[in-house]
Amino acid sequence: MTRAFNFSAGPAVLPEEVLQQAREEMLDWQGSGMSVMEMSHRGKQFSSIAQQAEADLRELMAIPGNYKVLFVQGGASSQFAMVPMNLLRGKKTADYVNTGSWSKKAIAEAKRFCEVNLAASSEADKFTNVPPQDSWNLNQDAAYLHYTPNETIQGVEFPLIPESGDAPLVADMSSTILSRPIDVSKFGVIYAGAQKNIGPAGLTVVIVREDLIGEPVAGTPAMFNYGTHADSGSMYNTPPTYAWYVAGLVFKWLKRTGGLEAMAQRNKEKAGALYAAIDQSSFYSNPVARDCRSWMNVPFTLADSNLDADFLKQAGATGLLTLKGHRSVGGMRASIYNAMPEEGVTALIEFMADFERRHG
Ligand SMILES: *Cc1c(COP(=O)(O)O)cnc(C)c1O
Repeated sequence: MTRAFNFSAGPAVLPEEVLQQAREEMLDWQGSGMSVMEMSHRGKQFSSIAQQAEADLRELMAIPGNYKVLFVQGGASSQFAMVPMNLLRGKKTADYVNTGSWSKKAIAEAKRFCEVNLAASSEADKFTNVPPQDSWNLNQDAAYLHYTPNETIQGVEFPLIPESGDAPLVADMSSTILSRPIDVSKFGVIYAGAQKNIGPAGLTVVIVREDLIGEPVAGTPAMFNYGTHADSGSMYNTPPTYAWYVAGLVFKWLKRTGGLEAMAQRNKEKAGALYAAIDQSSFYSNPVARDCRSWMNVPFTLADSNLDADFLKQAGATGLLTLKGHRSVGGMRASIYNAMPEEGVTALIEFMADFERRHG
């Protein structure tokens, strides 16, 4: 068996130890005689798995007691609708910051429910930076302020947590959650699709302040109401049980390896090494403003895009997979989430230098 280094943006690399434990427990979870996939979500065994996962996530992120943690389906994309449906609470407008492809999708969905006030946008700069906060135009009547702390496609990460005044702050943390410690108490809602830094696809984690639950817009379906999931411990219907279990293994792995402080240190080093390699070379480049460069997703272009196909082919042959950039920006993208080992980044940097020597 050979495990490649997989730079996919999502679904993405998982820690090898986690996959091994899942394999060991696949047919018989801890003497239960069955796979986690085969268990009732309401049984004692799965309840213990679910509760442990939530407790570990709460500990890792230091989530205050007045927040609910929901384990739901529908992806981050469903949250684009659930956020306005649950947070408008009689208001007619919400503030959005447009810093890339995922912001745009969130904005388009919110427009079905309310007036979107574009507080700031970096679209004119082709999404290569975060507009400075003193240039933002917040609306006094906004129900909340939504932003995307890490734009997975453009590789742009906020260097700060925005000030939203009295309005709750809402963050799509799909591609940055658990990459470093954050102060959860600054947020009204944090949501993330699992398939980047949490676990397998099919699970979405929502962290929501309790006072924001319970006043959805009229006509909100039960499944789109945060209250439904908060009141039932995410067991209103069948939750994504296996993904929830694997996420729990990832949380344990994070705790064993030093928690989010240690993870932040490793992520900073991995990203720093890759950006340094790109900046030192005149063959590779990254367009993002230095203080907004993502730790998780590193897009880069080759001086001659005619070499892209060769680069990808040769990288693949050396076990460096899924480096093709998103079709909307072209070039390459190396996603180096929590589970990407340092050796993977080192191997990529060495390959890039070697490719440049031969083709630069
Ligand atoms: C991947 C991603 C999404 C989409 O997630 P789904 O779970 O596929 O709906 C949304 N926002 C960001 C920032 C992402 O990285």
